[in-house]
Amino acid sequence: MVANLIKGKEIALALREKLAQEIAAHGDRPHLAVILVGDDEASLIYDRNKQKAAIDAGMDCDLHHLSEQTSEEEVLALIQQLNEDKNIHGVMVQLPLPKHIDARKVLDHIRPEKDVDGFTPQNAGLLSVKDERAIVSATPAGILYLLKTVHQSLAGMHAVIIGRSNIVGKPLAALLLNNDCTVTVVHSKTRNLPELTRQADILVAACGCPKMVKADWVKDGATVIDVGINRIDGKLCGDVDFDDVINKAAYITPVPGGVGPMTIAMLLENTYQAYKQSKV
Ligand code: NDP
Repeated sequence: MVANLIKGKEIALALREKLAQEIAAHGDRPHLAVILVGDDEASLIYDRNKQKAAIDAGMDCDLHHLSEQTSEEEVLALIQQLNEDKNIHGVMVQLPLPKHIDARKVLDHIRPEKDVDGFTPQNAGLLSVKDERAIVSATPAGILYLLKTVHQSLAGMHAVIIGRSNIVGKPLAALLLNNDCTVTVVHSKTRNLPELTRQADILVAACGCPKMVKADWVKDGATVIDVGINRIDGKLCGDVDFDDVINKAAYITPVPGGVGPMTIAMLLENTYQAYKQSKV
């Protein structure tokens, strides 16, 4: 068996084009504010890509690029100002933040209605009780979208998620539970990891371990979603050993060109939803 590729890049592009049409028909411009603290090169490239994608979709997008020395109080003050600005519909803070800044405190300061990354406890809570007002974190929302392009229904499927972070693993577990999957979340303290992953109809790798998932960790015909973004000798790779697993899975996402582009598309989608909600 050679797996079919789930082409996140193409799917994300189609989503962004559809969004651009909706926004153009609306005749108003949703406004996203992105905050980046420090000079991490990868984060800067990523945030510039988000800004370009937002503008291409017909939104306004400000990139607040603050110096590494910016204090926590200054970041909180900027968020407060954006929270109060009626013309701003979405606020997101690029992670990781410098060590002297408490990321949890900063994220918690974003007004839940403008929290387009879905990282505030309010949005995480709404997701966990399956309340449709939840703004769902972009990466898990993108993964669900990809899964639905290849599976009509996820009901009863066993999803195994490697990773329990607040931004990927946990919200994805809630989202898949809400979609009637049977969900197992595994992490660095889990025993017999391959034994568990081999039971997965849907296997999601989000652990940041380059090429950790091998073919013998995967059930024949499984759908494998690779969230990882790693570099080996400067070359991008995921948490899945793609060349090995492609002969075992039925569907697989590539890295790059899989989950990553979906994250940006869903962030824009969330911003548009936040904009529409602000008009209700
Ligand atoms: P974190 O480092 O916050 O979390 C990693 C998780 O993986 C933790 O729960 C950790 O367990 C678990 N883990 C680490 N090593 C192992 C192991 N050997 N076996 C089993 N579990 C393990 O990472 P993120 O969730 O933020 O990101 C995960 C990956 O996804 C990274 O490569 C990141 O770059 C990428 N990413 C990609 C995005 C995209 O848009 N494509 C978006 C966000 C992230 P424990 O809790 O016990 O420490």
